[in-house]
Amino acid sequence: MSGDEVQFQGNYDDYITYLKRRIRNLELQVRMLEADKERLERELSRLRSEMSRLRQPPAFAGTVIEVLDDDRAIVQNYNGPRFVVRIAPWIDKSKLRPGTRVALDQRTMAVVEILPTSKDPTVLGFEVIERPNVTYNDIGGLKKQLQELREAIELPLKHPELFEEVGIDPPKGVLLYGPPGCGKTLMAKALAHEVNATFIRVVGSELVRKYIGEGARLVHELFELAKEKAPTIIFIDEIDAIGAKRMDETTGGEREVNRTLMQLLAEMDGFDPRGNVKVIAATNRPDILDPALLRPGRFDRLIEVPLPDFEGRLEILKVHTRRMKLRGVDLRVIAEMTEGASGADLKAIATEAGMFAIRERRTYVTQEDFLKAIDKVLGNERKLMQQILSHEIIYG
Ligand code: ATP
Repeated sequence: MSGDEVQFQGNYDDYITYLKRRIRNLELQVRMLEADKERLERELSRLRSEMSRLRQPPAFAGTVIEVLDDDRAIVQNYNGPRFVVRIAPWIDKSKLRPGTRVALDQRTMAVVEILPTSKDPTVLGFEVIERPNVTYNDIGGLKKQLQELREAIELPLKHPELFEEVGIDPPKGVLLYGPPGCGKTLMAKALAHEVNATFIRVVGSELVRKYIGEGARLVHELFELAKEKAPTIIFIDEIDAIGAKRMDETTGGEREVNRTLMQLLAEMDGFDPRGNVKVIAATNRPDILDPALLRPGRFDRLIEVPLPDFEGRLEILKVHTRRMKLRGVDLRVIAEMTEGASGADLKAIATEAGMFAIRERRTYVTQEDFLKAIDKVLGNERKLMQQILSHEIIYG
């Protein structure tokens, strides 16, 4: 006998009312649990389909050459051989025309998706600036580097006849290397400004896309766009993402990276060194680059852009405080105190110092603001370094 029955001994009407209420409650609970179960089942099936979608092998990117009939087409995977393939039943055939970009199943090569064909550079992942508004005056230090860069790129663009007369080809590409935030992008932009050129920036890691063959196509489109908008400075940031030494092609990903690099090399070999498209690449890891990239006619000018020394830091601080009202600030002391800082760090320090002044409702910036800013911007890094060093002392 349960506790409930004991409780209602002798009064069956109350007991029945109680039981009915309980049944109603339990029924309600059952309905709620069933709704929960349904919701969870829906979630499960959504996650299952998401999982199977993620497990799908990458597809090839291709172009339709000809639609043969209702379920067959001739396609080409970027500049490769042509195939007669099936069109998956879910594809809207009316949208397939010669030139349509499609995704092809890796195993059967069937057309499984129609890809957007936009030529919009932002969709392609390129940053295009008609004429950047950065000038040589905005660069602190880096005099030697800037001079080398100007000789390699500005001179042949402005005075091609000099190279013609002497009978040499100007460099096609320059590789800037060094730690992040030290002015590689800045120099390339200032150069584009000086020669009145379009600046197109693309990031190496973004060229390696989801679809096989896409990276190579993007590189091709990059150079097409550059020719269209010439004079152009193409700036390839993080070139190591596609230009690292070639390894054994064990994975599809590596093959894709290699294909992208091959296309870049082919494009560089294909254009006229006396033309008005120039390529500047940047990397923090020159040691891992494929030597093929550095051969003559490719990136054969190497310019190191190192962390600024004392003079460099002073110059950079002058650039970034040019429009600030300083009171009693000794930039030499600040430059002294910021050894190891990059140009980007120094810019952040100047901005932070300005913020400290604003916080105190002042329109001028003091040395004290700068000291606090140094601590804020470099403090964490320095503390970390000290920790590492103290460990070395204890365990070293
Ligand atoms: P990354 O390898 O991260 O792309 P980068 O070397 O291209 O780095 P930049 O983008 O040129 O670095 O620098 C970042 C910012 O830092 C610049 O927009 C600029 O404000 C400042 N800066 C860096 N170096 C200098 C410099 N030499 N003179 C003036 N400002 C600088």
